[in-house]
Amino acid sequence: MGRRTDILDLVHESVVTRDAWGHVLSWNRASEALYGIARADALGRKLHTLLATAHDTPIADLEAQLHARGSWEGELTRTAAGGAPRILDVRWTVERDAEGRLVRIIETARDITARKTAEDALRMSEYRYRNMFQAMAVGFWEVDFTGVGRMLIPLRDQGVTDLHAHLHANRDFLRDTMHHAFVGDLNPKALEMFGATEMDQIQGRSIAAFWPRESEPVYIEALVATMTRQPWLVTETRLNRVDGGQVDVLFTVSLSPENRKRGVMLIGVVDISARKGAEAALRRVQAEFAHAARVSMLGELTASIAHEVNQPLAAIATSGSAASRWLSNDDPDLDEVRGLAERIVADARRAGDIIARVRAMAERREPARIALSLNAVVEEALMFLAHDLQGRQVAVERCLTPDLRDTPADRTQLQQVLVNLAVNAAQAMAEAGTPDPHLRFTTRSQGDCLVLVVEDNGPGLGDTPDALFESFYTTKASGMGMGLPICRSIVEAHGGTIVARNGDDRGARFTVTLPAA
Ligand code: ADP
Repeated sequence: MGRRTDILDLVHESVVTRDAWGHVLSWNRASEALYGIARADALGRKLHTLLATAHDTPIADLEAQLHARGSWEGELTRTAAGGAPRILDVRWTVERDAEGRLVRIIETARDITARKTAEDALRMSEYRYRNMFQAMAVGFWEVDFTGVGRMLIPLRDQGVTDLHAHLHANRDFLRDTMHHAFVGDLNPKALEMFGATEMDQIQGRSIAAFWPRESEPVYIEALVATMTRQPWLVTETRLNRVDGGQVDVLFTVSLSPENRKRGVMLIGVVDISARKGAEAALRRVQAEFAHAARVSMLGELTASIAHEVNQPLAAIATSGSAASRWLSNDDPDLDEVRGLAERIVADARRAGDIIARVRAMAERREPARIALSLNAVVEEALMFLAHDLQGRQVAVERCLTPDLRDTPADRTQLQQVLVNLAVNAAQAMAEAGTPDPHLRFTTRSQGDCLVLVVEDNGPGLGDTPDALFESFYTTKASGMGMGLPICRSIVEAHGGTIVARNGDDRGARFTVTLPAA
C-alpha cells in the first residue's frame, strides 16, 4: 500500500480513493497541491464535504449512476483551501473484490479552471461581438479580399512602388479587382441601409455593384491601407443601394491582423444621408443670410456707391461739354477731341465696372472659388467704402505686402467680409466719438496661409471678444447681430479662421487667415 502511494505521488494528476461512504482512503501529492490540503488533514474525511463538491445534478444521483455503471466522468466544481473555486475534469471508477463487494472508489481529477475561464471569456467576447454585429446602428460588412490580394501582389514584382498612383491611373484594373471582392457576412442594419430585404441580395455578390465610379478613390484608399498594413481607415463616401438609390456613409475599415490573416476586411458603414441633407440645407440658409446681409449692407452704403458712380458720370459730362466746345470752333483740334472721347470711354467703363460690382454684391448665386489676389480684394472693398469712410473722416492705411500668393476664394463673399469689418469699425468709432479715427488693412503671408488684419483705434471689444461671433449679438439700436457670424461662416467655408482681439493699445483687431493657393 505504502509503495503504491509513493508511485502515485509521482503522478501529475490528483488521485484520491474513497470508501463506499465517501471517506478519503488515499490522497496523493498532486491532490495536496491542487486543493491546498495536506494528506494528514484529508484522510478519513468525507470527500464531498471536505471539498464542497457541486454539479448541476445532485451528488447523490451521480453516485447512484457510478454504482450502477461502475464508472462516471464529468465536470465538477469544488472549493479548495482558502475558498478558491476549482473546476475539475474527474473520472470515478469502482473497484470491487472477487465477491463483487465494493473495495474503494478511485478518482482522478484534472484542474481545468484556467481553461474554462479562458473559454468563457472567449465565448463572452464572441457573444458580445455577435451582439454588436447584429444589433448595432452601424451596418457591418465582412468582405473577402483574398482574390484582390492575389491580384495586387504581382504589382510589387512588376516594380510598382506607388500603389496609390498606380490604381488611380489604371481604373479598369481597379474595377476588375472589385469583381474579385465578395461580401461575406453582413448584419441586419447593413441590409436595411442598402435597401435589401434578403441576405442573398447582397451576400456572396461582388462589391462592384455597390461602388459608384465617383467613390473609387475611397476604395483605393482602403486597398492601400491594407497593403501598407495600416490598422484602420475612417472616411466618408457614397455607395449604391440595391434599389438603385445611393446612400452617404461614414465608412470605416478595420484591418486587424486577424482579419488580414483571414483575407477579410471588416467594413462599418453609418448612414449619414440625413446629416448630409441637413448640411446642404444649412449651406443654403447661410448663403441666403449672407445674401440678405449684403443687400442690407449695400443699402447702408448707398451714398458711398452713388458717389462712386457719380464721379465718372460727372467726368463724362465735363469731357463731353469740352469736346462739343472744341467742335464748335471753326477749325476744331481733332486730336484734342479724340483725347476727350477716349476719356469719356474710359470713364464710362469705370462706371460700368462699379455697377457690375454692386450688382455682383446684390446678386444671389452659388459661391464660386477662383484664385484671387487678397490685395485686389482689399482695394475693391475700399471702393465700396471710400466715400463712407471719408464722410466719417476715417483715415485709411494700407499695409499690403506685394506679390502675395493667391487664395482660392469667392470674390463677392470675401469683399463682404472686408466691408463688414470696416463698416463695424467705422460705426464703433463714430459711436464712441474716437478722435482721429483710423483704419488699417494689413496683408501678409504666413507659412501656407495668407493673413488679413483689419484694425481700428476705436473703443475696442470689451472682455469677451469671442461673443461677438454669436448670432444676434449686437450693441446697436438697429443692429441685427448677424454681420460677424456671417463673416465667420464665410471664412470657415473657405477653410480659414477669423479671430477678434483687442488692439495692443486700444481699438479692435480682426485677424482673418485663409489658405494660400
Ligand atoms: P451688428 O453690426 O448688426 O451689431 P455684427 O455681428 O456685425 O452685428 O457685430 C456685433 C457687435 O460687435 C456690434 O454690435 C459691436 O458691438 C461689436 N463690434 C464689431 N466690430 C467692432 C469694432 N471694430 N469695434 C467695437 N465693437 C465692434
